[in-house]
Amino acid sequence: MNPRTILSNGKILSDPDSGEIRSHAHTACSDNRLEHVNQPEYESRPGDTVIDCTGCIIMPGLINAHNHCAMSLFRGIADDLPLDAWLNNYIFPVESRFVSPEFVYLGTKLSAAEMVLSGTTTVADAYFFMEQSSRALIDVGMRGVAAQGVLDLPAPDCPEAGKWRQRLQSFLAGHPADDLVRPAVFVHSAYLAGADTFRHVFEVCRKNGLKMFCHVAETVWEIEEIARRYGRSPVQFLDNIGCLNQDFIAVHCVHLTPEDISILTRNEVRAAHCPESNMKLASGASPVNDLLNAGVTTALGTDGPASNNNLDMWEEMRTASFLAKVRSGDPQALNAHDVIKMATTGGARALGLDDEVGKLVPGMKADVIVIDMNQPHLTPTYNYVSNLVYSARGSDVRDVIINGKVVVRDHKLVSADLNRILMEAHAFANEVSEFLERPRDLRPG
Ligand SMILES: [Zn+2]
Repeated sequence: MNPRTILSNGKILSDPDSGEIRSHAHTACSDNRLEHVNQPEYESRPGDTVIDCTGCIIMPGLINAHNHCAMSLFRGIADDLPLDAWLNNYIFPVESRFVSPEFVYLGTKLSAAEMVLSGTTTVADAYFFMEQSSRALIDVGMRGVAAQGVLDLPAPDCPEAGKWRQRLQSFLAGHPADDLVRPAVFVHSAYLAGADTFRHVFEVCRKNGLKMFCHVAETVWEIEEIARRYGRSPVQFLDNIGCLNQDFIAVHCVHLTPEDISILTRNEVRAAHCPESNMKLASGASPVNDLLNAGVTTALGTDGPASNNNLDMWEEMRTASFLAKVRSGDPQALNAHDVIKMATTGGARALGLDDEVGKLVPGMKADVIVIDMNQPHLTPTYNYVSNLVYSARGSDVRDVIINGKVVVRDHKLVSADLNRILMEAHAFANEVSEFLERPRDLRPG
């Protein structure tokens, strides 16, 4: 029999949908699954590891439904700019110079380290050279969906515009058959990809059972641009070309009309809400309450670390709730329970992983986090869910188990060499700084 990891004592939030916190006896993971959850007694076997969780909350790991992990290496490169200036003057030039397989591997590892240390156990990543993202997530021991970027312009891993079909094919053919990371496709947006591209990717995803991610209705500029090109909203455009279904994840959904929301509902599209990125780029505030009320499965994401600028899902939860209240003028909008569901079961449903993760149920994958509640900012406790969403921080996460393996123990990353990742990231940043200090016309690449 396999040795088990057993969590004992503490409290447990096994099903965020119910929001019920119960006193906890024992939960055991064997191999990569939950063997039992909150069982009163267990028989210890030789080789079992018992982790005492007195004073802690045990819950499912958080799910970050939208990220561009490798962009951690561009964190803080340029701030306080609107999306178009940020992209055109900074991100696109440094991407075209620096994004390589090594860059994506290192940047994704850095993000994975940050995420697992703060209790995120699954990420939907969307970028380029996604073989390297999958490799980095697997090496850190993090669950993920790795969505290969597609756009009609030249991309770092597809320098010839229009060759993205071959690039996508080689990504899908070479994807590791590892249970931890699933492949997917990310079409950047309706302003960087045309109808033919969307239709082709939609067919590839339909045939292979893959998720399709896309930035949708993020900024006013996008709404105006798509109206100019197609005379429709981005959601209407995607519906009109037949590319919306339950495997489509519409990221951002900031500027939606009531008709857009009914199209998303009718097609069972999933939404990924990224409030902090939307605030930082002054894109606007998503009508997330309206989406939830219309029955749209809505997940929560940080977006990339260059537009957030951290990957702390506790902060994202709190911000999501507060922003919904500001937008609606209603303090009851998006309460703590609504938002913790978005970051767990909502994320699992959006990514099609709800048979595996998002709840703690025997037989499901063992993605479990332990939060140390014995902290001044988490005391006293009248309402555990309130404390988790409105008061907790990523640094309160003490232990993290993903796929049955302990990846964080006592606030330390045990699945990878964090010091080495940090050193390599600093060395890389020196090269970027040097490049940015040069006058534009003297920059190579
Ligand atoms: Zn994004």
